[in-house]
Amino acid sequence: MAIVHIENLVKRYGNFVALDHLNLDIEKGEIFGLLGPNGSGKSTTINCILSLLKYDKGTITVFGKEMQPDTYESKAKIGIVQQNVAVFDQLSVYENVDFFCGLYIKDKKKRKELVEEAIQFVGLEDFKKSRPKKLSGGLLRRLNIACGIAHKPELIILDEPTVAVDPQSRNKILTGIQELNRNGATIIYTSHYMEEVEQICTKVAIIDHGRCLAIGTTEELKAMIKTGDTITIEAVVLKEEQIEEIRELPHVYKLTYEEQILKIKCNAGKHNLARVLNYLQDRDIPFGRVFSELPTLNDVFLEITGTELRD
Ligand code: ADP
Ligand code: MG
Repeated sequence: MAIVHIENLVKRYGNFVALDHLNLDIEKGEIFGLLGPNGSGKSTTINCILSLLKYDKGTITVFGKEMQPDTYESKAKIGIVQQNVAVFDQLSVYENVDFFCGLYIKDKKKRKELVEEAIQFVGLEDFKKSRPKKLSGGLLRRLNIACGIAHKPELIILDEPTVAVDPQSRNKILTGIQELNRNGATIIYTSHYMEEVEQICTKVAIIDHGRCLAIGTTEELKAMIKTGDTITIEAVVLKEEQIEEIRELPHVYKLTYEEQILKIKCNAGKHNLARVLNYLQDRDIPFGRVFSELPTLNDVFLEITGTELRD
């Protein structure tokens, strides 16, 4: 049984269709990535799952039950880290975590342990008495996370927790999510940063315009597309006919040449690096840095939608 089951979900804001017959199943033990550009419907999906938003059509079950706004039993098993930081300015770091943990954990001794553990987990030990206003953006995000996870929920939902966060906090957040997952939590993680999703998610759903366009592990998603490796060759001066000749080499799926940078996308599973370099060397064409990259989730997104998923 899926932990979260979403079937034919439709959500409209007035006449605007934000979720268009969305189907998703999130299984126990996954780090499930909901990857899509801004406005694709990620937060709307999360808020429907949590029953914070009314939806127009479809079914959602969480832990096998339909969620209601007051389903306390299910909510106690969920940890939510909203996109917008939601903490109390007039409470200290410790008091904030204690407040949110206290919604579910009434035993004081147990709660103290959990709060201490969550604060340590996000690395805010030195800021326990600080007010949120004193924290940097990254630390504030970490506090937001501590508030969401202190009660040790089975399902943790994080909505874009790394937006506008410094690299150190970002890294701590990403490795923290993996640790929570290793310790048994199922994770739903939304992002428009494909590298992050690629780094940590065991399963990815690509969404756009409120629809699920593709779903699978990153390997499965990459295997669905025609694009293979991307070869980049910098500082190479090419004539028009040479570009055309390279374009005609076997396994060239797509070629661009802009500002002396040659980019060749190969057909899936094929490799062209040696062939292209031989072509240049045979003609004594000098070139600068050369590198080859495996296909990314951006290639998947680009091929499915025709547009880039930009960071
Ligand atoms: P994401 O989280 O992927 O950036 P959202 O779920 O926030 O996307 O939004 C999906 C779409 O619904 C966007 O086009 C957004 O402008 C629209 N939307 C979100 N909330 C509202 C609202 N309260 N009223 C009207 N439109 C909304
Ligand atoms: Mg959002």
